[in-house]
Amino acid sequence: MPRKRRILVDLDAIGADIYAEWLGRFNARFGTSMVIEDVTQWDIGKCVPDPEHPEQRTYMYAILEQEGFYRSLRPLPGFIEGVNELHEDGNEIIIATATQVPIAAKEKMEWVFEHLPFIGRKNIYIGYSKNVLVADGLIDDGPHNVEAYRSEHPRALIASVQYPFNDAGRAHCDLYVEGGYKDMAATWKKFVEFFRNNR
Ligand SMILES: [Mg+2]
Repeated sequence: MPRKRRILVDLDAIGADIYAEWLGRFNARFGTSMVIEDVTQWDIGKCVPDPEHPEQRTYMYAILEQEGFYRSLRPLPGFIEGVNELHEDGNEIIIATATQVPIAAKEKMEWVFEHLPFIGRKNIYIGYSKNVLVADGLIDDGPHNVEAYRSEHPRALIASVQYPFNDAGRAHCDLYVEGGYKDMAATWKKFVEFFRNNR
């Protein structure tokens, strides 16, 4: 019997619609109209409309520490169905998500319990460096994550989705869905197909 494959699945911007709520709260505070296309680099603090403003950058990161922030995030279209299909295909799914904020760690666990009850509570890793986990595949939008994972695990299958901020990760991915952030339901179909076609 072939070995069960292990696939690491990121949460933010892969499974949870973090930018809608994040930018929404920021815009509500400052009366701005930031959209995802304004987030052109990983460090979102450098993308605020007025970098000289005394509070915009710090507030952007403070949102991540607001109680209820993560719990309020909606699952991205196609995510629950896609993870369920990969799970049904016999893959071992590990939710691998980073945070450095205690309240977010708690709420991320609760979020997974609510939205992915079939995953199991033992299959959630909250940490920072995903490359310390050994797996056959990774689904992630973070350019630093895909680069580090490729470097340590040259044979892993790495799938990602284009966002305005992650061009630097492109070269390290086996699948990088162009324009995929605009249609995550279609992107998730491509992720599932990719792992089915590469066994
Ligand atoms: Mg992410």
